[in-house]
Amino acid sequence: MNSYLIQPVTALKGIGEETAAILSEVNIFTIHDLLEYFPYRYEDYRLRDLAEVQHDEKVTVEGKVHSEPSLAYYGRKKSKLTIRVLVDRYLVKVVFFNQPYLKNKLTINDTITVTGKWDAHRQTITANELQLGTNAKATDFEPVYSLRGNLTTKGMRKFIRLAYEQYGSYIEETLPGHFLQNYRLLNRKDAIRAMHFPASQEDVKQARRRFVYEEFLTFQLKMQGLRKFEREHSPGVSQNYDLKKLKEFLSQLPFPLTNAQKRVVNEIVKDLKSPYRMNRLLQGDVGSGKTVVAAIGLYASVTAGFQGALMVPTEILAEQHAESLKQLLEPFKVRSELLTSSIKGKRRKEILHELQEGHIDILIGTHALIQDEVIFKKLGLVITDEQHRFGVEQRRVLREKGENPDVLFMTATPIPRTLAITVFGEMDVSVLDEMPAGRKSIETYWAKPEMLDQVLAMVEKELRKGHQAYVICPLIEESDKLDVQNAIDVHAALNQYFMNRYKVGLMHGRLLAEEKDSVMKQFSSNEIQVLVSTTVVEVGVNVPNATMMVIYDAERFGLSQLHQLRGRVGRGSDQSYCILLANPKTEIGQERMRIMTETNDGFALSEKDLELRGPGDFFGKKQSGIPEFKIADMVHDYRALETARNDAAKLLESNTFWHSPEYKYLRNQLEASGVLEGEKLD
Ligand code: ADP
Ligand code: MG
Repeated sequence: MNSYLIQPVTALKGIGEETAAILSEVNIFTIHDLLEYFPYRYEDYRLRDLAEVQHDEKVTVEGKVHSEPSLAYYGRKKSKLTIRVLVDRYLVKVVFFNQPYLKNKLTINDTITVTGKWDAHRQTITANELQLGTNAKATDFEPVYSLRGNLTTKGMRKFIRLAYEQYGSYIEETLPGHFLQNYRLLNRKDAIRAMHFPASQEDVKQARRRFVYEEFLTFQLKMQGLRKFEREHSPGVSQNYDLKKLKEFLSQLPFPLTNAQKRVVNEIVKDLKSPYRMNRLLQGDVGSGKTVVAAIGLYASVTAGFQGALMVPTEILAEQHAESLKQLLEPFKVRSELLTSSIKGKRRKEILHELQEGHIDILIGTHALIQDEVIFKKLGLVITDEQHRFGVEQRRVLREKGENPDVLFMTATPIPRTLAITVFGEMDVSVLDEMPAGRKSIETYWAKPEMLDQVLAMVEKELRKGHQAYVICPLIEESDKLDVQNAIDVHAALNQYFMNRYKVGLMHGRLLAEEKDSVMKQFSSNEIQVLVSTTVVEVGVNVPNATMMVIYDAERFGLSQLHQLRGRVGRGSDQSYCILLANPKTEIGQERMRIMTETNDGFALSEKDLELRGPGDFFGKKQSGIPEFKIADMVHDYRALETARNDAAKLLESNTFWHSPEYKYLRNQLEASGVLEGEKLD
C-alpha cells in the first residue's frame, strides 16, 4: 500500500489529536482506514410524490407552510409542533417532537423541505429534519456511517472529505486492468469517491460492484491458494488398497450403489491412493446412504494395511453405526469396535490395548475417540459424521492421532453452494445428490394449532397400523416469555390422550446420557410408540418403523432444521408423514411452511433457507466459520462470487499471476494470509 496512506490521520490538515482520538473509537487510525470506512447505507433526499410513498416509509418533501404552526406542550420538556403544509396538491400535517424553537423560524407561505416518516392513514409526516427553502441538499444521496462516542455524521463526512481531497491521488489500483475492463468496474480511486460522495444511486451501485468483486476475488484466491498449497505440501500416505477385495466387498452389498455413491466412492479411493492428504467434505441429504460410503472407504483403508476411525456426535448414533458397520464388515474379517464413555473398566482397557497393537481395524465412537489414551497403531483414514457438530479443535485432535491420515467429513446438512465454496473453500467437496431407488417422499402438511384434534387422529391412524410417531417440541419446560409448546407439557397431555392404548415416552437434552439411551432403546424396540422430544433426535437416529412426525411451533425452526427433523421418518418402506403445527405471524414464517410442504429436496431447501435467514444464522452462532465481508453479501452477490471463484482458479494456475507486476497486490494478499509460507515471490 502507498506509504502516504498508512500515515496516521493526524497527517491530515484539519485533524488533530482530539479528532484522532474520536476516530480511534471506530478503529480508524490511518488515512487508509478513513478512506475505507464505508457508509452502511445512504439517506435518500430525493423529492417524491406523496401518492407513491408507502405507509411508514421515509420521505423528503417540499411544500408551503399553509397556516400558523401550533405548538403544544405536554409533560416536562415534551412538545409537539404541528405544521400544515401544502405539498403539491396535498395538504398534509408535519409534526416535530421536542423542537419548540422551530416555530419561530416558520411563517405562512414559506417554502420548506422536511424529511421524516410518512403516516399514510393520518396524512402526517413525523419529521426529523427541516430545511428552510427548497431542497438544498448538495446530493440526492448522503452516506450514513456507523458512529460511536463523539463521532457525528457531519464530522465523519467532513473527515473523509479531507482525506480524499488531500490524499485521494495516492489511492492505488489493486485489480489488474483487464478485470476492470472486462467487467466494466470502476477503478479504485473512483470507486472510493463514489462510495463516499455519490451523486446518485447508480454511483453507489457501481462502486459496490467493484468492491464486491475485489473482496470475493481476494477471498477466493486465499481459499483456493490454501487448498492448493495444502494439497501439494501435506504429505499424506499413499494407501494402496486391494482393488480385488474391494470389488468383492461391493458385490456383496445388500443393494447396488446409486450412481452418486459410485462417483463419491471413486473420489474417496482416489484420494486414499494419492500421496496427498485427503481433506474432503461429503454432503448427502438424510437417507442418501452416507454410511455405506464410509464403510467402503474404511474397508479400502484396511485392505491397505491401515486402521480407520469413525467419530459421531452422540452415543446412540455411535451404537447404530457400529452395528451397521459390523454387519457389513465382519464377513470380510474386519474387526470393528465401539468406544464411548459408557464403555469402562476392563472392557475399555482391552479395546485400547488391542487398538494400539493393531488388532482392531476400525474404531467407532463419540468424542471418546480423541482422548489421549486412545492410540492407534497405524491410522489411515478418519471419518467424522455430522461434522458441523464438532468443533474445529476436536477435528484437529482426531486427525493428529495418525501421521497425516486422510480425512473425510460427512454432513447431512446440505450446504448451499455459495457457502460450500466460501466456508469450506479449502476442502474438496463430494455430493450425494441422488436417493436410493424406491424411497418414498415424506408427505408434509401444515396445520394450524386449532386443528390439533384432527392431527392426533392422523397420528392414531398410523399407530393403529403398528407404526410409531415422533412429536417434536421446541422447548423442554414451560416458559413464561414465549408461548411455545414444551416437551414436558406435551408429554403429559399425550400420555393422557393415548392412555391405555399407546405408550408415550419423553426425551430431551437434560436427561442423563443413560436415561436418553434407555428411552431411545425403548423407542427402537417399539416398547414406546410415541416419542415426545426436543430437537435432540435431530441427528442420525434410525427407527424405520416410525412413520409419523408432528412438529409443534414449527415456525420456530429454520428450514434446514425442519428438514433434518423430518428425516427421522421415511426411513422404512412405508409412506411417512410430517405435520407442521404452526401459526407463523410473519410472511417469511408462512413462506417457510409452504416450502416445507412442497419440497423434500434438502439442497433446494438449504438454498431457500440461506435466502430467508442470511448466512450468519445458517449454521447457528457458535462456530459458523462464515467469513465476514465488508461490502459483499454472499447471498445477493452470488453471481459475482461464482465469477471471482472461477477467476481465482485460473489465476492460480497461470504463470503470469506469479510473476507479472499487475498482480502484485493480489499476490501480497496471499502472502499476508500465510498461504504462501515458504514460497519465494519476486
Ligand atoms: P444417511 O446418508 O442419512 O446416513 P444411511 O447411510 O443411514 O443414510 O442410509 C439410509 C438407508 O438407506 C439405510 O438403511 C441404508 O442401508 C440404505 N441404503 C444406502 N444405500 C442404498 C442403496 N444404494 N440402495 C438402497 N438402499 C440403500
Ligand atoms: Mg447418517
